[in-house]
Amino acid sequence: MKEYLRELPAIHAIQKDHRFTVLQEEYDIPLSALTKWIRNIIHDIREQMLNGSWQQESPTTIALEDHIFTMLNQKAEAFRQHNVRQVINATGTILHTNLGRARLSQKAMEQVVLTAGNYSNLEYDLEQGQRGSRHQLIESILTEITGAEAAMVVNNNAAAVYLILRALAHEREVIVSRGELVEIGGSFRISSIMEESGAILKEVGTTNKTHVYDFEQAINDETAILMKVHTSNFKTIGFTNSVQAEELVELARKHRAPLIYEDLGSGALYDFEAGDEPVVPDVLKTGVDIISFSGDKLLGGPQAGIILGRQDLMDQLKRHQLARVLRVDKMTLAALEATLKSYAADNTEEIPVIRDMSLSTTEIRKRVDAFVAGVREKSGDWHFDIQDDTSQIGGGSMPEVEMATLVVAVCHTDLSPQQIFDRLRTGQPAVLARRKYDQVLLDFRTITEEEIPLLVDRFTNI
Ligand SMILES: *Cc1c(COP(=O)(O)O)cnc(C)c1O
Repeated sequence: MKEYLRELPAIHAIQKDHRFTVLQEEYDIPLSALTKWIRNIIHDIREQMLNGSWQQESPTTIALEDHIFTMLNQKAEAFRQHNVRQVINATGTILHTNLGRARLSQKAMEQVVLTAGNYSNLEYDLEQGQRGSRHQLIESILTEITGAEAAMVVNNNAAAVYLILRALAHEREVIVSRGELVEIGGSFRISSIMEESGAILKEVGTTNKTHVYDFEQAINDETAILMKVHTSNFKTIGFTNSVQAEELVELARKHRAPLIYEDLGSGALYDFEAGDEPVVPDVLKTGVDIISFSGDKLLGGPQAGIILGRQDLMDQLKRHQLARVLRVDKMTLAALEATLKSYAADNTEEIPVIRDMSLSTTEIRKRVDAFVAGVREKSGDWHFDIQDDTSQIGGGSMPEVEMATLVVAVCHTDLSPQQIFDRLRTGQPAVLARRKYDQVLLDFRTITEEEIPLLVDRFTNI
């Protein structure tokens, strides 16, 4: 195969080809990058020829040039797309864990952009003219909204659980009801995170029933925490009993020892009325010592873990070495502050999660009509059937709540449902539809008005 080597074109021969000019104009990629790619492609071909893995029989220079341009176009096309990219969520699931959970509010996005592109007072106290703390930037608004004594923010709720257990219960016992030993999203288990933290898990009660006396009998000198976990992603029904936070608080007072910690999961700051999601200020009023929850579930902010509770405990957590490991960045703080301000000002309709949850079918209908009319204007190959259905909140929040919605079942004269589903998913921008039996459904609860022209384009160019 070594004799093929002399057929390999030189880099400058490729650069002189008219296809190179076309490619340069189409993709707007600098000459230096393109030259590097050509060099790499030619290098790979040479390697294949030398080690005998080159497949083509007696390649001519012309055939090799064609091959190089095919590779170069593929590389340029791949480069044009970002790996992290927009997806139009047509599933109707508002907090889709695979699609990045909550969308940020306009104000939160603006603050992220401002903070990302500029210097900020992240760790500088402008009033005092000295080094400041990033914790302080967010603490006052969190305590104002929730009534907590003190607050802290870490990377996500899993990090919050880990930090709390590690800092407050290392090598000591944490009592949890068997019915609350949850697994979330396949990768987060209370029992595993507990093990990692060095806290000793003490399970009490049974899967369906746990009583206060189960906790009481398990308390000893080694008990550090009585823990409650909000079982937000499933529902046990029938013959059940769980111990309420109030009862644990009373029990802890009686034994003058352990802390009460509740992992709230979602952490609603807004009273959704639907479902039985407790509101954060109410949970704090029960007298629990510490709670934690996610920033990007029902709260509708960026990925974060919010910890609220007693001042002395929060001081202990902030001083812990792990606090530095689990800290949030400036963009997260900027987005979280802006989101919390919407709550502080009672402007919760600014928050997409809350807005999407309260959308009426009349409003959803407007989006459906705009989409259907847009596609019909340009293409006669689609058939649409508008149906009543329900959407879910997702993200392991309020699984029992179903919101009335409208979905469009889409059919195409030449494409099977699977082909429609796959093409929508793999095109630009990607569209993730809902599958139900052999139907492809679009739930317009999670498709914004701004996305409708993009969606119409996807359908007319499929
Ligand atoms: C979602 C959830 C977590 C994990 O939160 P992340 O912010 O995803 O890390 C932990 N505990 C409970 C109960 C949850 O619902």
